[in-house]
Amino acid sequence: MTEVETFNYDVVVIGAGGAGLRAVIEARERGFSVAVVCKSLFGKAHTVMAEGGCAASMGNANSNDNWQVHFRDTMRGGKFLNNWRMAELHAKEAPDRVWELETYGALFDRTKDGRISQRNFGGHTYPRLAHVGDRTGLELIRTMQQKIVSLQQEDFKETGDYEARIKVFAECTITELLTDDGRISGAFGYWRESGRFILFESPAVVLATGGIGKSFKVTSNSWEYTGDGHALALRAGAALINMEFVQFHPTGMVWPPSVKGILVTEGVRGDGGVLKNTEDKRFMFSYVPDVFKGQYADSEEEADRWYTDQEKNRRTPDLLPRDEVARAINSEVKAGRGSPHGGVFLDIASRLPAEEIRKRLPSMYHQFKELADVDITKEPMEVGPTCHYVMGGIEVDPDTASSSVPGLFAAGECSGGMHGSNRLGGNSLSDLLVFGRRAGLGAASYVSELKDRPKVSQSDVDAAAAMALAPFDPPGDGVEENPYSLHTELQQSMNDLVGIIRKAEEIERALEKLGELRERVKRVTVEGHRQFNPGWHLAVDLRNMLMVSECVARAALMRTESRGGHTRDDHPGMDPQWRNKLLVCSATPGDNPVVPEIGIEVKEQTPLRQDLLELFELSELGKYYTDEELASHPGSPA
Ligand code: FAD
Repeated sequence: MTEVETFNYDVVVIGAGGAGLRAVIEARERGFSVAVVCKSLFGKAHTVMAEGGCAASMGNANSNDNWQVHFRDTMRGGKFLNNWRMAELHAKEAPDRVWELETYGALFDRTKDGRISQRNFGGHTYPRLAHVGDRTGLELIRTMQQKIVSLQQEDFKETGDYEARIKVFAECTITELLTDDGRISGAFGYWRESGRFILFESPAVVLATGGIGKSFKVTSNSWEYTGDGHALALRAGAALINMEFVQFHPTGMVWPPSVKGILVTEGVRGDGGVLKNTEDKRFMFSYVPDVFKGQYADSEEEADRWYTDQEKNRRTPDLLPRDEVARAINSEVKAGRGSPHGGVFLDIASRLPAEEIRKRLPSMYHQFKELADVDITKEPMEVGPTCHYVMGGIEVDPDTASSSVPGLFAAGECSGGMHGSNRLGGNSLSDLLVFGRRAGLGAASYVSELKDRPKVSQSDVDAAAAMALAPFDPPGDGVEENPYSLHTELQQSMNDLVGIIRKAEEIERALEKLGELRERVKRVTVEGHRQFNPGWHLAVDLRNMLMVSECVARAALMRTESRGGHTRDDHPGMDPQWRNKLLVCSATPGDNPVVPEIGIEVKEQTPLRQDLLELFELSELGKYYTDEELASHPGSPA
């Protein structure tokens, strides 16, 4: 029988980024006991790295902004493949969630008249990102942690125990979700330091584990982004959607090699920075796609005037949605107009006074000075695309964040639907707050309505422990695989064959490679013992990365069009027949329990509600929709 430390909670939240912490607060405020588990240190999540800001149509910088404009921008950014109900809730609720953060103690940058200041970002019609310099995520996490501490103090007053209702389990990795007759019964994992096992008995689990970037070689993501939540959900019986849509942020550092992929915030362009090629040309003017024609400036003069007068001028194409900018940079480099290290130039030095740059973009200034010995107040940065965000994730009900598995909820980057085929910058932090809250609420309502609690079975615990320990006990046929080598091979294949520009023949090669890796991972072998053993940790994470990579590759092969974060060289256009189709991935029972097979099917989305459809001009919708879909629009010819 497995030796395991056991805890009992009403709700277990896996992940202590923005989505997880907001879910914790909500479930606790509804009176439930909550465990929050994170594999990194508490406070160290991707959310903390978020720089540019949090999108919310508060209308402080431009009073024309409102939820309808934000909704429209989000749908356009996602190329109308978004789950429209999520986009609606998000646009409506984001301002309240930002204001609420200030009641927790956050202090956003201010306008001269004392309102929360908002900055420009790609794809947003008006300046909309509430921010704290370029360290917004840090403020978000800091204040939600502060709120959690204040709730713990309330609990102490009432019970004499700070951890009576919220307890943090940091540096603890969850490796398996447990179910009882199809319902969630708990979560199983290990302490990273000691390697000892831990079991949470709980009827409700909220997954808030973030993204999958570590499956790719060049990424802005850190070591935790191994798709754990995605894979845990798949193995528990939930489905993933939109996995073919991976966002390559246009501006990652390209030099020196040791820092390749580290993010250069879109805030640089939002604050006036422009992209240039080696001919010193602002090339984005040549890359405005048909669907956005008329919405962006077509001369440098107009683009520059737009920064100070947005009523009379159109925005700069440097701030097109990320997928468009990333593809444009890729084309410039391919055409031989790239910078010395394979990127393009991002120039803020010639656009703002040095003092202003240091004030508005302090992290960027230090990042380039310390990592690349580049002074961004004096010279341009070299930048290129980097794998940044996954639009795909766990399929959830928009209102309650529940998955198809009773008791399993998901929010934040590990959930899917909200951003469609491409996320707008700033829409993740607002997504975390809106749907983190809804997931906490959904889990609390689910628990309050339960008639009986699901039970954890000993055989499930033993099986989860055996799976986690398998790398210490390989098959013994003389072939041993190294987790680091397998990871490098996986990252290289995903980068080269299922990266920013894709074609069928290359994706098929990636799938062959993934098939080979799923066999080899059975022989992955680690040395030493369970006390802090990074090789073992990676071996455990590899299963997850292989599963999510397979979802990405299978869906990428199936979607024979280009849309948002999925560009097919062999199918370059957007196809209206694909607009409303979701590719749904699920784990299918097979003979490989280590990395279960992935099945994929096509599903139609619910058509956009009539009042929301009517927020768009027929002429715009015509660029995305089929004629039959538009028949009900009032502007449509009878
Ligand atoms: P995270 O904040 O990453 O939290 C995930 C949590 O899950 C972590 O605590 C991790 O330890 C835990 N975890 C994962 N797996 C396990 C497991 N198996 N067991 C236990 N715990 C686990 N978005 C914006 O809107 N605006 C921005 O300005 C912006 N800037 C960004 C800058 C950078 C450099 C990056 C990388 C992203 C940026 N984003 C931005 C995107 C945004 O930060 C992320 O999408 C968002 O923070 C994800 O939040 P989350 O709560 O879903 O996950």
